[in-house]
Amino acid sequence: MSAQNPAGGPLVDGPADPEHDPTASYALEPEYVESLTSRILATSGETVSVRSPLNGQPLAHIPQSSDADVAQAFARAERAQAAWARTPLDERSAILLRLHDLVLDRQDEIIDLIVWESGKARKHAFDEPLHIALTARYYARTAHQHLDIRRKLGVVPGLTRVEVNRVPKGVVGIISPWNYPFTMALCDGLPALLAGNAVVAKPDAQTMLSALLAAELLEQAGFPKDLWQVVAGPGSQVGTSIIQRADYICFTGSTATGKIIARQCADRLIGCSLELGGKNPILVLRDADLEKAAEGAVRASFSNAGQLCVSMERMFVADQVYDRFVERFVARTKAMTLGATLDWGNDMGSLISQEQLDTVVAHVDDAVAKGARVLTGGQARPDLGPFFYEPTILEGVTPEMTCFGHETFGPVISIYRFHDEADAVARANAGEYGLNASIYSQDGARARAIARYVRCGTVNINEAFGATFASIDSPMGGMRQSGLGRRQGSEGIHRYTESQSVATQRLIRFAPMLGMSDEAYGKMMTANLRLMKKLGRA
Ligand code: NAD
Repeated sequence: MSAQNPAGGPLVDGPADPEHDPTASYALEPEYVESLTSRILATSGETVSVRSPLNGQPLAHIPQSSDADVAQAFARAERAQAAWARTPLDERSAILLRLHDLVLDRQDEIIDLIVWESGKARKHAFDEPLHIALTARYYARTAHQHLDIRRKLGVVPGLTRVEVNRVPKGVVGIISPWNYPFTMALCDGLPALLAGNAVVAKPDAQTMLSALLAAELLEQAGFPKDLWQVVAGPGSQVGTSIIQRADYICFTGSTATGKIIARQCADRLIGCSLELGGKNPILVLRDADLEKAAEGAVRASFSNAGQLCVSMERMFVADQVYDRFVERFVARTKAMTLGATLDWGNDMGSLISQEQLDTVVAHVDDAVAKGARVLTGGQARPDLGPFFYEPTILEGVTPEMTCFGHETFGPVISIYRFHDEADAVARANAGEYGLNASIYSQDGARARAIARYVRCGTVNINEAFGATFASIDSPMGGMRQSGLGRRQGSEGIHRYTESQSVATQRLIRFAPMLGMSDEAYGKMMTANLRLMKKLGRA
């Protein structure tokens, strides 16, 4: 069974024949689904059914949480957090390391569930347990570096001892999207837990099962039962209920929703980190290795069918190599295999929903109607599954086309030619987003120098997005409309703490002593300030 790509490539392996449909042998057991959904704190009696984008078949009925359920989730989380904050740091780290092993041991189950829920290719689903294992190991091994009490300079050398404590915020609300349903539900929560917080999580309605499996694994690894609560329901209701009660909000999703959340957090004067959308640029410089750049461009543009915050939607290619590069990139894209299966081997899977498919179709059709050229792709593939769309390369995209500046969040990239690098950087920086960029060049130093002018929170040189995303020690997040705050690294854990300064004063006080007048005290302090500067003190 094979479906030919009208654009010329062998896009194969639809699920048309149930007898040979590899998804058929992996049907989710109702008891398994029930054991996961029973973790949702929901007493409303209402459920919402979800279907798999792979084949449109029903997957689960998801119980819906009411405002009272969210209140109950917070009450439980607060109680658990009080005890957890007193648990020694080494014990917390050890649980994270157990989670690392559990996630690797149960990766097949995790990946199956992700593929069922999201429709993505198995190799893209694998990135999720991989990212969680990296995050768990990183924070477990660096816990003391981030959270130990730190000595600071006291105002009077030797007599003012200052320490800074990292105090957990309390209960963190995590609102996550569907595109990486396992890692987005979990990765930001791991540093929150390590820092001594509890979490109330609201994963996206379309991908609750992967997030619930994450909650189960946390408990199996040894985190206390009530420390991680999961609630379900529409973002505008359940998300708002969470924001009304949380001590901090970590949100990943669209820029439009991020702004609503920021306003609600401002009303309560609580902090939030916002990981939002992008219109990410990739630059292929004249000295790039064109084979490597073409291979990287495929991953940059079509991982998870482009439903990835850090994937590329705009490509700027140096005039000198444009034709040779485009030939290679188009050939590699045409050779991609698409399929609705749980197996390894597909290069791309399905979009997640009709809504996503509609957006992609609208962006491409609008561009074509206004004069853009389709170099490959450009068609929906209902023969493969309800929401499949071909990996698509557009040329001749102009500012009046929707896909020029708006995030498509699908497998569509626009290629532009550039003559000088300063112009390419200016065009890459145009628009409102600033999440991720990629530069291909054989001269690493020159590419790094150019990176400093690119207004994105992460820049990958000779790689699409994985080099920064998987380097957990370095911060990840967006500039401009792509976000506020950072995940990963010390910023990714310190956001969940309040810094508290404790100063112990000895012998002298900050007032006149031993019968000294206020004026004499003023003079003495002035002399002191001059002396400290002379001595080079900070
Ligand atoms: P979305 O904003 O529609 O939804 C994200 C989450 O917010 C969901 O759980 C949803 O239920 C919830 N939500 C929706 N309205 C809400 C409200 N009023 N109050 C509280 N919560 C609400 O985003 P999406 O379409 O699910 O995700 C795709 C977007 O996410 C893209 O723009 C993508 O770029 C972005 N994203 C960013 C990152 C990043 O790290 N920067 C990662 C993944 C996705």
